[in-house]
Amino acid sequence: MREIPVRDPPAGEWPAGELESPGCCPVCGGSMRERLHDDARDRIFFCAPGRWTLWRCAECRSAYLDPRPAASAIGRAYRGYYTHEKVPSGSPGGPWCFLQQAVINDWLRAHYRVRRHPWLPLGRFLLVFLPRYHRSVGQWARHLPRPGPDSVCLDIGCGRGDFFEVAQACGWRVQGLEPDPVAAGIARGRGVRVHTGGLPATGLEPDAYEAVTLNHVLEHVHDPGRAVREAWRLLRPGGILWIATPNLGALGYRRFGVHWRGLEPPRHLVLFHPASLTDLLRRAGFDPVVGMPASLKPLRNFASSHRIASGQDPNDEAIPVPWRIRLAAFIAALGAWLRPAWGEELIFIAQKPRLDPNQKETGPGDIQAEGHEESRTQPGEEPNRVSCARTEPAEDETERD
Ligand SMILES: [Zn+2]
Repeated sequence: MREIPVRDPPAGEWPAGELESPGCCPVCGGSMRERLHDDARDRIFFCAPGRWTLWRCAECRSAYLDPRPAASAIGRAYRGYYTHEKVPSGSPGGPWCFLQQAVINDWLRAHYRVRRHPWLPLGRFLLVFLPRYHRSVGQWARHLPRPGPDSVCLDIGCGRGDFFEVAQACGWRVQGLEPDPVAAGIARGRGVRVHTGGLPATGLEPDAYEAVTLNHVLEHVHDPGRAVREAWRLLRPGGILWIATPNLGALGYRRFGVHWRGLEPPRHLVLFHPASLTDLLRRAGFDPVVGMPASLKPLRNFASSHRIASGQDPNDEAIPVPWRIRLAAFIAALGAWLRPAWGEELIFIAQKPRLDPNQKETGPGDIQAEGHEESRTQPGEEPNRVSCARTEPAEDETERD
């Protein structure tokens, strides 16, 4: 039987001169807070020294690190990050993969009018009866609407460009934005235009994109308010912003606490609750803001969190997962199916309002709520509340996924 190695987080402390304090909640600017965890450490990529304190805002229920790595020094926390790995070549084969691809291609044909082979006629209806796979396919396509003839999607924090092929399969023209030059170089190898840079000051043209996606990026930024306002600036009127980020309301967090995979100190500077992310997007001017159910796959997070709690390497998927953890993940999937707010991730789509409500452009259509939570800006509500000035980062700040 294989001996399971134990890994310790890096020794030493984060240099005191490379720390900063946000001073107040980076999401809402609130100053009332409670201490959630002390002694949180990098037990995921084992590259960031230090012990971190996580606070929960009493006003919006987001959590944030204080102190946290300064924007100018955050690169220290990304040495050994997974986006530096080369893209795996080839794809798994076998009849099951062939069937899955055929079903997905029929779904693409129905949603995006894109013809790809192989495809299984009426395969889309199989997905309706399999909620786990139906949600996974929707999230895989990032719930993008059908593109117009010249619609461009910008994937911010694109890493190695893993999403490019999916966006193109859905009929979108796609570009990437990535602060890490190594990852950006790998992404360019896919033949896609990739800008080097990050949030909140991207330096890109305003009103240039029909869709902007932030897949597990927002939790890495020092000022999420400025980040979503920058996304708003980049979008054309009627364009959509798609966000995925860890959910502090997840059942996995309730079970594993400081060992939960989603915390990932000190790279995750902010963690959201469904309501706090909704409010952040509304204050930036997005309307409507729609929460989508995340895919029902908590097992990976549960297995990683269990390994963190056991002092093992959470990325070592060769370590067997105990049956009690598998059972807990199954129950969590059931819970998230009944109540999306308990899912491991938050998935949100937000639309930049059209200039004229009666105007129909050639870009993507309006968000289809599909029975999910929707919120609209209330009359008289302040559209652009700015978070506290002490959180303003330097102009050359770069962020990573
Ligand atoms: Zn707050």
